[in-house]
Amino acid sequence: MDKKIAQLLASEEKRQKETITLIPSENYASASVGRLVGSVLGNKYSEGYANRRYYQGNKYIDSIEQLAITRAKSLFGVPHANVQPYSGSPANSAVLMALLEPCGSAQGKVNTIVGMNLSSGGHLTHGHPDITFSGKFFKSVQFGIEEQYKKLQSDSVGSETHDPLRGGLIDYDMVSGIVEANSAKLIIIGSTAYPLILNWQKFAEIADSYGCYLVADISHVAGLIAAGVYPSPVKYAHVMTTTTHKTLRGPRGAMIMVTAKGLVKDPEMGSKIDRAVFPGLQGGPHDNTTAAIAQCLAEAETPAFRKYGKQVVENARVLAEELVSGSLKLVGNGTESHLILVDLQKVSGNVAAEALEIAGITVNRNSVPGDKSPFYPSGIRLGTPAVTTRGMGKREMKQIAGWILEVLEIIKDERLPEESKKRSDFIKSFVRRASVNKRLLTIAKEVRTLCKRYPVP
Ligand SMILES: *Cc1c(COP(=O)(O)O)cnc(C)c1O
Repeated sequence: MDKKIAQLLASEEKRQKETITLIPSENYASASVGRLVGSVLGNKYSEGYANRRYYQGNKYIDSIEQLAITRAKSLFGVPHANVQPYSGSPANSAVLMALLEPCGSAQGKVNTIVGMNLSSGGHLTHGHPDITFSGKFFKSVQFGIEEQYKKLQSDSVGSETHDPLRGGLIDYDMVSGIVEANSAKLIIIGSTAYPLILNWQKFAEIADSYGCYLVADISHVAGLIAAGVYPSPVKYAHVMTTTTHKTLRGPRGAMIMVTAKGLVKDPEMGSKIDRAVFPGLQGGPHDNTTAAIAQCLAEAETPAFRKYGKQVVENARVLAEELVSGSLKLVGNGTESHLILVDLQKVSGNVAAEALEIAGITVNRNSVPGDKSPFYPSGIRLGTPAVTTRGMGKREMKQIAGWILEVLEIIKDERLPEESKKRSDFIKSFVRRASVNKRLLTIAKEVRTLCKRYPVP
């Protein structure tokens, strides 16, 4: 291997081994998944679908893709699956392309989509305005949970009447009003940072009353759904999209699934989606990824994976409880999934994430409901899929929570300048100071010791 790239690979391997990954969208795929991604299957071209390829030599590739499709259908209980999307964002784009009229369409009026906004935990591809495909090529109207979140803050913490764990933070009547007022054609729902359970049935009631498509984007929770620890939208949505590399623990990739309900609404939906993926949006499928998807789906059917999913949620619950008892404020006051969103209030998410990285704990800064700037947000997002894959449990979650609380205590008086031009310099100088902070460096050493006991796969 080229020396430079080999060195960088070795450094990254070391980093992954010696630090704790709490980024909820990351995970460690199995050696088999890794081997398939790096296999000769990446040498092949197979534009088209099984038995309808534009290239010769696809005898085995056809069987591989069909195996992945069969397993996806069986694991999620759907009649149609497409395993070719390059990743989660193109998968969502393909669904919009398949089902809607974009702006400038010869067919007439641009269709409207409704999704949850970024700072409330939705994804960019759910209609984020101005800068994304979903927000530029379609009319997009978004809703958020800012109001409910504010209301919750003004109530006493943990008060019975506003326990979000009984129903979540989404105002479904408001969503219904937005869908009606804008004659929306499609509702796309799925969380990247909303820690509570999404009520699929309520979204379906809204979609059905206004004749909309309901697209459930289960990218973050697919593995939890497969393990039976998070509700499946299969009975409620017309289409489900998912990445395969998050809780599902497969390769970088994605799938689009059409449900039985979807086929009742439109018997052509499966072929519309297939055509939108290829030739609509993509060229040749990544056959190495397809094989690795087939592999991760086989792994996800095992009792060991069910146990894993259960432990992911249990670990998140323990981590959340420990952080709450350390007086941290969590969006939703806790979690019902694999992820936790900490509202740091006065401390910047950037500063907290940098300090934690120096202490050997990798998280990402994240908007909390109502935040204006995703670049300088006031929260951090934590999740347990990766640490649970390493075999960590309740005791380790308590240990990790202790370190996080300690790091946040060390930086509690750091304040990001109001003036945005001064912010990046402030963060740079903070990182310089924090990199020599004795206690942060000691925590990093303690983290390395813990990590040695829980090797990455
Ligand atoms: C991660 C994610 C995506 C995008 O996936 P990429 O593979 O990063 O393109 C889309 N939707 C949701 C809900 C996600 O969490």
